[in-house]
Amino acid sequence: MTVPPANGTIFQQGLVLWGRGGFYRILLEDGPVDCRLRGKLKRRHTQMVAAETDGVCAGDAVRVSLFPQGENEYNGMVEAVLPRKNFLPRPRIANIDISVAVLAARDPACDLLLLDKILLVAAHYGINAAICFNKADLDGGDLPALVALYRDLGFAAVAVSAKTGQGLDELKLMLRDKVSVLAGPSGVGKSSLLNWLLPELMAPVGDISARLHRGRHTTRHVSLLSLPAGGLTADSPGFSLLDLPADLTAERLPLLYPEFSRYAGDCRFLGCRHRNEPGCAVKENVRQGRINAGRYERYLRLAGELK
Ligand code: GDP
Ligand code: ZN
Repeated sequence: MTVPPANGTIFQQGLVLWGRGGFYRILLEDGPVDCRLRGKLKRRHTQMVAAETDGVCAGDAVRVSLFPQGENEYNGMVEAVLPRKNFLPRPRIANIDISVAVLAARDPACDLLLLDKILLVAAHYGINAAICFNKADLDGGDLPALVALYRDLGFAAVAVSAKTGQGLDELKLMLRDKVSVLAGPSGVGKSSLLNWLLPELMAPVGDISARLHRGRHTTRHVSLLSLPAGGLTADSPGFSLLDLPADLTAERLPLLYPEFSRYAGDCRFLGCRHRNEPGCAVKENVRQGRINAGRYERYLRLAGELK
């Protein structure tokens, strides 16, 4: 929505692709423009980042003012950051539409405890989660059964191979027109998948891999990159999704399991944690096979980790 006021300044809403050295690349209607932060925003941002909280980051929806410099050339200034729907702290990304948990059929072994953790940490942050089982070309993990199990729980799930290309159209569809981030342990094929998803970056392959493998302490410079079919994806995995957040309590944990919430209303006690409480409807439904026993056992282990 372009509003041309008398002095030639134009105001637009945009989306932050990345920020570096005081400049922010903002995706506007007609393409990206590099902007600085308006003074008061900059001071607030500096304080917040120093305190390791939010500040302006990739994925933020912002209001930008554009000052004409020449023909089709603008100087831009970020005037305001709009309210966020969610925020991932490491790397700092806002307004994620979908986080995709990436696991491998094997090499490394398919770690379902980690998968469940990623799904519930995403739920804790208010981010919609989906699953991509990679290395479908290798034997192992019984991927069709896993895909069926998690689809039953309401998660979008695909089995793909970054080696053969199988299933990748489904993955592309999953990410289409969305702001996405991949998350998963090292070695499952995240950078291989990004190389498929972002063909224009095929040339500097090492670049993406190097970035992905740079590790946990150097993930500040995340960028959102345009997907050919529409949408944006982060060039660095969502590391925060691999760890239980400090503010995730044992009371909240069971609320993040969609299959528990179907039955929790029938538990004898309000706020039942579905462990050893008498009259627990969740436990009863695990016994009767309506709730997957593996998921429930992994829940007990994660609940134990929270103490
Ligand atoms: P990342 O650590 O998650 O980024 O994983 P990489 O993309 O670096 O992949 C780790 C290893 O798995 C590399 O040797 C890849 O060649 C290999 N790999 C990735 N995807 C596949 C796949 O679909 N099938 C097979 N067989 N190997 C894969
Ligand atoms: Zn219960």
